[in-house]
Amino acid sequence: MVTARRTVQADVLVRGEKIVRVGKVSPRKADETVNARGLLIFPGFVDAHVHFALPVGGTRSADDFRTGPRAAAHGGITCFLDFTVGHPEVSLPNALERRLKEAQPACIDYSFRAEMIGWSPERAGEIFQVAEMGVRSFKFYTTYSDSGRRTPLGHLRAAMEAIRELGGVAMVHCEADELVDPGGGPFPAARPPIAEEVAIAEVGILARETGCPTYIAHISSARGLIAYLEAKRKGAPLMGETCPHYLLLDNRVYMRPNGHLFSVTPPIREAEDAETLWWALGRKFLTAVSTDHCPFANSHKEVGRNDPAKLPSGLPGVELLPALLFSEGVAKGKISPRQFVYYLSDGPARAFGLLPRKGKLARGGDADLVLWDPHARWTVEARTLHMNADFSPYEGMELQGRPVAVMVRGRWVVREGEFVGTEGHGAFVPWQG
Ligand SMILES: [Zn+2]
Repeated sequence: MVTARRTVQADVLVRGEKIVRVGKVSPRKADETVNARGLLIFPGFVDAHVHFALPVGGTRSADDFRTGPRAAAHGGITCFLDFTVGHPEVSLPNALERRLKEAQPACIDYSFRAEMIGWSPERAGEIFQVAEMGVRSFKFYTTYSDSGRRTPLGHLRAAMEAIRELGGVAMVHCEADELVDPGGGPFPAARPPIAEEVAIAEVGILARETGCPTYIAHISSARGLIAYLEAKRKGAPLMGETCPHYLLLDNRVYMRPNGHLFSVTPPIREAEDAETLWWALGRKFLTAVSTDHCPFANSHKEVGRNDPAKLPSGLPGVELLPALLFSEGVAKGKISPRQFVYYLSDGPARAFGLLPRKGKLARGGDADLVLWDPHARWTVEARTLHMNADFSPYEGMELQGRPVAVMVRGRWVVREGEFVGTEGHGAFVPWQG
């Protein structure tokens, strides 16, 4: 059994939806026993950043709340964090209610952040209303003024003051809009690392001044990482996330004949940037590794093959996140097994108020478990994955380690690699405490 704190040989006793004992358990105490010899037991993994059924320029991201959570379960994810769909004319509680309805078919647990599009003084009151509904985390963009999603710094500061008062967390997409060329599409020349560096520095100053816990989404570059570390050193209450595509890929993917399929924001950087992000992971400088899962089919991206400004931006990852991080991180000695659990369970659960229900393997927590074969070797093929997209950025990659069985609140959702879950088993997890 591996947690963020320790590795021990132990039994786990599950009753109903909860873990009731970790340690030595007599098999006579149980109606059913599962022999996990040779396997690792991890707490259920939390993907802190997904976009299921996200409306994008007249279409939607390819996975909805049926296919997305099912794909996630196959990878060992037992809880995901998505977002409401913000709109200047829609109140935060209304947006949350709509999204809660949409998410009902999910087979694994979930929570939401309220996406803040359009700030006004009334929003401060709405922040407290959605807190009553169980949501205390909020999403902001420093970029995308072209689609009206950008929050100017003055508004961000006011919002962060309210969130600080509430005891919540702000999650910020950091790219300085003035340093981005929206006509250039989601590529490095149009969205350079300096844009990330400047935005993280600015948001870091606001976090320090307001005292608002702030989670920097998808740090992609060494320059962004350094700005994040410097802000923390000066006392900003920052948490940081990176994603598998920034760790495992580099900008040579854009030279491939299908390079347009790798469109994602922020874009994929140079190999040195990936190395620097691994260095930070190995020192526990970040909080979570999440996917920013936002898949599109080949046909969706075809429209932008020769017109970068029209390219939908986003990559799939939710089904592969644990295997990619285990194979490239743990098996290659870049991070420890405990750090692996920290980035996929404890860290994201702590950042978004899911502790102690999620993120731990301990008495009283939800019975979310992953039985993991650390020696399994397999090759990524998009056609055998369960997501609703025909493209994987990791196609052909050989991986070590994969989940064998996955449990969500006491019920198996995957066994022997087969889906045995139920639509609708997933439940909304409100902010704890
Ligand atoms: Zn995102």
